[in-house]
Amino acid sequence: MSPKVRVALYWLASCGGCEESQVDAISDKIDIISNLEIVFWPVAMDFKKEDVEKLPDESIDVAVINGGVRLKEHVEMVKLLRRKSKIVIAYGSCASWGGIPGLANLYDINEVLSRVYSEVPTLQEKGVMPRPKSVTNEGMEIELTEVLPMLLPLDAVIDVDYYIPGCPPTPETFLKALETLLSGNLPPRKSVIGASTRALCEECPLNKTKPDKVLIKEIRRIYNTKIDPSKCLLVQGIPCLGPVTRGGCNAKCPRVGSPCIGCYGPLDKHIDYGAKAISFIASILDLNDENEIKKALDNGIPDPAGLVHKFTLPASRLKVNLKRGEHK
Ligand code: SF4
Ligand code: SF4
Repeated sequence: MSPKVRVALYWLASCGGCEESQVDAISDKIDIISNLEIVFWPVAMDFKKEDVEKLPDESIDVAVINGGVRLKEHVEMVKLLRRKSKIVIAYGSCASWGGIPGLANLYDINEVLSRVYSEVPTLQEKGVMPRPKSVTNEGMEIELTEVLPMLLPLDAVIDVDYYIPGCPPTPETFLKALETLLSGNLPPRKSVIGASTRALCEECPLNKTKPDKVLIKEIRRIYNTKIDPSKCLLVQGIPCLGPVTRGGCNAKCPRVGSPCIGCYGPLDKHIDYGAKAISFIASILDLNDENEIKKALDNGIPDPAGLVHKFTLPASRLKVNLKRGEHK
């Protein structure tokens, strides 16, 4: 009998959706589960950091890490997991490029903390900020990890071998990636695994209604537009990002009348997802008058960064403040 594949699973700044998708993917796949030995999975089992520290270096076959790096503790944990693992996988959009929590990089960390701990209307006690050190009534000293000034994608801190995209990756994507890893026939390092190499439009059933050249005069918003679910959303003026997004989810959103918002990230040939998305939208806007263009953008895209960089801002080449690699 061949030895089991030793797997570690860890989460950083994330929402829990990635774990849901992992459990959904393998909970009834006894043949896969019986091949795995989980050596670290703190979200589901009572493992501690010391358990990982005791393991020999490179004794974990695969570490699957989701979420973005937001805390000093995250930096320590991912460096530890990198040392102990032969293969490290960035699982999901947050680990791969920062994801939705990465939009916080648009703000100074003090503004973020003030918003979260002083201004949010649902707070029970306003203005209680996290402190690095506290002493309990019993005199016990408690240390809290530090929040980093910016959220970082995993590969800004450690070397990553493979990426599994999605917010979260669909169970099918995770299963395909597992099949690739378990086959022993590994693709080149730094590849995206489990997803397609082609644009999302190519797997969208509405693609047959999309002309070769799409031109629109108005950008519409999904919440106040009555759409025809049998026609390409882009043709109807809804900014669907299928043409610039990696396929692999089976076009989950357009299939139910909702535009692709880009959670599978860029295609291999695109360096900066947001730059490609902006350039694509500019290429289909059939307007020449500056005022008309401004009106169309103001009305249709009130939150440009939230549209074109919803999942990828911390990995963007457009960001000037993100010092990639400063924690390596
Ligand atoms: Fe592409 Fe979106 Fe049109 Fe589908 S609806 S064909 S994903 S642009
Ligand atoms: Fe993500 Fe787009 Fe697929 Fe929706 S259609 S799951 S946003 S890649």
